[in-house]
Amino acid sequence: MRKLLLIILSSLLWSISFADEGLWVPLFLKNYVFGKMQALGLKLTPEQIYSVNHSSLKDAVIIFGGGCTAELISPMGLVITNHHCGYSFIVNHSTVAHDYLTNGFWAAKMSDELPNPGLTATFLIYMEDVTNKILPSLPQNITEEQRQQIIDATSKRIIDSVARHWNYKYDVQIRPFFYGNQYIMIVTQTFKDVRLVGAPPSAIGKFGGETDNWMWPRHTGDFSLFRIYANRYNEPANYSPNNIPYRPKEFLKISLKGYKKGDFTMVMGYPGYTQEYIPSYGINYILNLVDPTRIKIRQAKLDVLMPALNQSPAIRLMYAKQVSRIANGWKKWKGETKGLRTLAVLKEKRDFEQRFIKWTQQSPQGQKYNGLLSAYNQIYKQMDTVARANIYFYEAVYTTNIFRYASRLTKILKKMDTAKSEKAFNTLKNRLTKTVNSFLEHHRLYIEKTITDRMFDFYYHDLGKQFIPASLILVINKSNNLPKCLAQAQNFLRTGSSFYLFTSSIFLNTSGLAKIMKKLSMRDYPKYSHDLEGDILLRLNNEFSSIYINRIYPKLSFYQLKLDSLNRLYMQAQMLFEKNKHFYPDANFTLRISYGTISGYSPRDAVQYNYFTTLKGVIEKDDPDIYDYRVPKRLKELYEKKDYGPYADSDGTMHVCFIANNHTTGGNSGSPVLNAEGQLIGINFDRTWETTMSDLKYLPSRCRNISLDIRYALFIIDKYAGAHRLIHEMVLVK
Ligand code: ASP
Repeated sequence: MRKLLLIILSSLLWSISFADEGLWVPLFLKNYVFGKMQALGLKLTPEQIYSVNHSSLKDAVIIFGGGCTAELISPMGLVITNHHCGYSFIVNHSTVAHDYLTNGFWAAKMSDELPNPGLTATFLIYMEDVTNKILPSLPQNITEEQRQQIIDATSKRIIDSVARHWNYKYDVQIRPFFYGNQYIMIVTQTFKDVRLVGAPPSAIGKFGGETDNWMWPRHTGDFSLFRIYANRYNEPANYSPNNIPYRPKEFLKISLKGYKKGDFTMVMGYPGYTQEYIPSYGINYILNLVDPTRIKIRQAKLDVLMPALNQSPAIRLMYAKQVSRIANGWKKWKGETKGLRTLAVLKEKRDFEQRFIKWTQQSPQGQKYNGLLSAYNQIYKQMDTVARANIYFYEAVYTTNIFRYASRLTKILKKMDTAKSEKAFNTLKNRLTKTVNSFLEHHRLYIEKTITDRMFDFYYHDLGKQFIPASLILVINKSNNLPKCLAQAQNFLRTGSSFYLFTSSIFLNTSGLAKIMKKLSMRDYPKYSHDLEGDILLRLNNEFSSIYINRIYPKLSFYQLKLDSLNRLYMQAQMLFEKNKHFYPDANFTLRISYGTISGYSPRDAVQYNYFTTLKGVIEKDDPDIYDYRVPKRLKELYEKKDYGPYADSDGTMHVCFIANNHTTGGNSGSPVLNAEGQLIGINFDRTWETTMSDLKYLPSRCRNISLDIRYALFIIDKYAGAHRLIHEMVLVK
């Protein structure tokens, strides 16, 4: 019976599909949506897209760092991705004197390309469906935990033997698809020397800033250039000045031909996370708990940080990365809730569920799934309190700078406590001093304090007693009742619930720390450990952590296991219920292909959006008073002279961005957008505001991905920056 179910499932997993929707696994393209792609205009064979026997497009597409996609565009390992994907590396190389973020960076020659410790480029070597090796090993009637243990053990055996087979030069993982109804093995190779080659100024690469983010019409030149370096055998190696440019199996040819409405486009990349198959209860949970809570907390942080960016170039460099990260999610979730409401996604899901429930009651096949939806209802209700606490913990504590700082300090002090030699102790002592100095150098305490005040207020007032650390109550009470003389002695804001923390912690108000550090030696550490490890900031951080470890995490994991098992069943059930539909697995940061056509859209009554934008729109948005809209002088000159070189469209204008209905999500940032011949026409970087809810419900008629026109990137590299050596590496198809 189980075998039979497996067979039915695997034949259903990849049957008939919806038009243009889907994040398709390249391994199975041939069997399923390929015909549709051809019908829309694709001119390639499946083997030209994905092949294990010879080089194919998949060899030109990489995971860039931990959460983006990028692609190879030259035989010398040159890589293009989004500016927002390279953002933190660009900021890391910037100083007030050499502000590459504001002014851009172009390496004049290869030896000027800048190394980025920690940045990796990962290639997919191949994928293999291993479902039949995993699922049959599972006995009947086991708990979700036992199931996971068996799957982990079986996976480990397979992984070990495949890794051994390749002599450990590849990384091997096995990942669940369709909520554990299918398992795919993924074999990859990771390069560790990836250098910054070029980035436009922020006023091009992040033009429009957070105001334009997630919006159409868009005019952002969202790209940056990197290069992969390898050892002399063309293999991965740690950074070394002796490394040489990587010679890829495949790189993308770049089309200068442009596109028109209705043209076929295809995106290859690494979409991160979608939940297209969750029930209405899951949508309700996101719509009414998760999104509003995260939005509220992030809004409070942004209220402090956004204006601070304009205080000085130094502060902008300190906080730019953080603002980008916080604002990206905040704005997306705002769009998501709006879209879910306007497009009545809940109602649509509920209508579907009515029909589904009938099927479970009436059809013999459906009986097994009877009661599934009410089980979901119960779990979402039961987990409400702990889920809320988890969001507060993550957004208001865990990701807040002073608590990250506290965790770093705690780790060092713990090691100091058990150091075996004076030498080891002194190394740690130096590290402690460096950590404190670096925190003070890269943050402004009045900004940190203002944020912490708001975070404490939220946390204290919005959550039940069981989640409130005793030290938080102490800090808030003492802040409110601080003796006047002490309050007046401090030189920053004298009110707020974290005032006591910022004045009493020796790691924040560091006047007392230097004295201790001077005297501190391994022998008399115990004398000072109370002042150091018992510091109010560290104590508070420890208490928050233990609340998370003891009261939040175990409960949440308990519910998550229940949801995992329901999700697996519900996925199976939907596939049986809608036998004639093509199912694609939710995104899980593995290589996918989505396809569609170039088209504008109508966001609301009487409004129609064109499918591309031009440089004229950049000039229209120019505003010298706003950092994000200050169009560089050189760009204005090129526009005045219409000096676009071979990069102008046949209509004579310089196209900047375009939209299409390729199904994409976060992680697809930096993905290549390819034409029917597989040539690069754009770099995917965003989605439209009205449909950021596409992670939960994708509507091909309304959802649009936003891409940078590759010709605009080339124009900036060539005409704006004069980096001709880079253009010469590429293959441009006229
Ligand atoms: N702009 C998005 C990101 O930051 C890309 C997307 O979600 O479409 O990942």
